[in-house]
Formats: sequence, C-alpha cells, structure tokens
Amino acid sequence: MRALKLVSPGTLELVESALPEPGAGEVRVKVAGAGVCHSDLHVLHLEKSMGAAFTLGHEGSGWIDALGPGVTGHEIGDAVLVNLVWSCGQCRPCVNGHDNACVTGGRHNHPPSPGLGPDGAMADYMLVPARHALPLGEIDPVAAGPLADAALTPMRAIDSVRERLTAGSTAVVIGVGGLGHMALQILAACTAARIIAVDMSDDKLELALRHGADATVDSRGDAAAEILSESDGYGVDVVFDFVGIAPTVELASRVVAPEGAIRLVGLGGAVLPFGADANTKALPWGVDVRKSYGGTRADLTEVIALAAAGKLTVEHTVYPLADYQRAFDDLEAGRVTGRAILTP
Ligand code: NAD
Ligand code: ZN
Repeated sequence: MRALKLVSPGTLELVESALPEPGAGEVRVKVAGAGVCHSDLHVLHLEKSMGAAFTLGHEGSGWIDALGPGVTGHEIGDAVLVNLVWSCGQCRPCVNGHDNACVTGGRHNHPPSPGLGPDGAMADYMLVPARHALPLGEIDPVAAGPLADAALTPMRAIDSVRERLTAGSTAVVIGVGGLGHMALQILAACTAARIIAVDMSDDKLELALRHGADATVDSRGDAAAEILSESDGYGVDVVFDFVGIAPTVELASRVVAPEGAIRLVGLGGAVLPFGADANTKALPWGVDVRKSYGGTRADLTEVIALAAAGKLTVEHTVYPLADYQRAFDDLEAGRVTGRAILTP
C-alpha cells in the first residue's frame, strides 16, 4: 500500500509499505479520505526531526477492513471516523472528561494522535485502536475526516465558553479556513451569539457568509476599529483565534471586552502579553484566556451528531493522494476554500 511519510524535516515521500496487520485491540481502516490541516504545514516546516519517519494525516475516515484479536463492537465495512486524540481513558484528566489533555504525552506534549507520531490517514490503510474508531452511520466517510479535528477543535473551544454565548452576545472568529468555517457552523447551530468573521481574503469572507457569519471584517483594513464599532466600543464577549500569529493575537486583545474570553487555537507561534499590573494595555480586566488541544470524546460525539443532522458540512476539494504536493501547495498559498481532502 502507499503511505505519505514525513521522512525528515521538510521532506515528504509517498512510499510503498506493507499492509499493516491489526494487533490486539486494533482495527485496520481502509481510508476514504484524509483532511490536510494547517498543522501538517507546521509539522512539515519544523526544523527539528520528529524521530522515525511516520505517515501524516490526523483527520482520517474510512471503512473497517480487518479486526485485531479480541475486538468486538465493529463490523467489517462499517464507516468510521478516526478520533484525533488517542487518549488512554485511564489517567486523571481522562476520567474527569478532559481526555484531550490525557497525560500520556507528557506535560508539554499532546496525547498520541495519528499522523502526528503514530502512522496516520494519508495512506491506503491505517491501524486504529478500536475504541478510537467512531461510527459515522450514514455520514459520507470521504468528506468526514475533518470532523475529527477541523470541527472537533473548535467544538472544544466553543464548549468551553458556551454559557457566555447567549442572545445579545457577540463572538468573533479570526481565520475562516478549515477550522474557522466549521467554528462558524457550530456557533450558528449551538449558540445565540451574533457572529463576526475576520479573514484577509474575499473568498474566505464569502465562505464565512455561507456558513453562519452575521457580519464579516477584512483584516487588511482597521479590523479592531470595525469590530469595536459593532460593539459600542466596549468589546466582544468571546474571540476565537484560528491563526495565532502576532497580528491576530493583538487583534483579539484589542477587541475583547472586560470580563470577556479569548480562545487561542491557531498555532502561529505568537505570544499574548499578560501583564501583572494595573496599567497594562494588553488586556482589559477579567479576561479569561485558554488554549486547548483538539477536543474531548464528548465533543466528538456532538460533532458527529451535528453532521448527521445536516448542520455541519465540510466544504472541501478532493485531491488524489498521489497529488499531495498540489494540495499542500494550495493550502500554503491560501487557495483552499474549506478543507483539502486526500483520497487514496
Ligand atoms: P487554514 O490554512 O485552513 O486557515 C487559516 C485561515 O486564516 C485562512 O483562511 C487565512 O486566510 C486566515 N488568515 C491568515 N492570516 C490571517 C490574518 N492576519 N487575519 C485574518 N485571517 C488570517 O488553517 P486551519 O487548518 O484552519 O488551521 C488553523 C490553525 O489552527 C493552524 O495554526 C493550525 O495548526 C491550528 N490547529 C490547532 C489545533 C489545536 O488543537 N489547537 C488543531 C488543529 C489546527
Ligand atoms: Zn489539525
């Protein structure tokens, strides 16, 4: 079978490898599609090696193809979504329902995730711990992969502030890419907030209006002034930053209201200044800031339910696996609307 491997920093290769046999407690999934995430670009551009070569693809979906010893509850041919977070289910965060912070990966690392260490979905087949293959039911597996991250991760960020997003509140979504366009749909389906979407391209702003934004703001202009004028100068209740670079983090801190919340999701590497004094202009009083990795299993269950109800769709372009370079190049150049999906 074919697998797209990160063989060394900056180098991808589509290699032939043996069909993997599922071990005890594992299933083999015949991949239907694998989303290409901006995190794949971050991983590709890391200067430091991530160790032995591994197959990329943390947004996978497909059909159960083989069962390892002892596996029950799955049937060959069932459509499944591969969970992003291969949590242990046993540690304290896991049993408290914070499985996206499972301690298995260590204090500063994330829990094991396919395509970010263990072999992922940019391949013809992949192995998955049986309990991390979730039934998709009638949802088309070809376009479902991004539900496992592009939808799961915003779902966690939104769930963490859902009580704030009442009628009359305002939420700002910065970056209407793979994650952002899912965040807009989740906000529209699950909250009463007025939604302002921010991006720097006309295509993305149109995408935002198609998926639940009430208003759009072009970050090539004075986005902070525009957003503040929409909220009487006081600021907005919640800002979701799906980019995480210096200008977007600064925008978040300039438009958040006192006692508001900022959710940092994008991994653009910026730092949000947090002053331990009364005068700092960086943040108003009382702002609640959080960054989170992926989402919990409960969040993923909600994501699948929303998709099954037709309230969450992945706007996507399909690229054959062999054409991976074009997909990566298009994502890097901002030419992908929604998600690029690689199909074997
Ligand atoms: P994407 O490339 O699909 O979308 C990024 C969007 O941001 C694009 O629409 C782009 O036009 C827009 N953008 C870029 N600069 C901007 C600016 N200055 N102002 C406004 N908009 C701007 O990326 P994605 O796949 O949606 O991923 C988004 C980020 O989230 C990445 O950094 C990714 O690594 C990160 N991520 C984090 C987690 C997590 O668990 N925390 C999970 C998945 C992805
Ligand atoms: Zn991702």
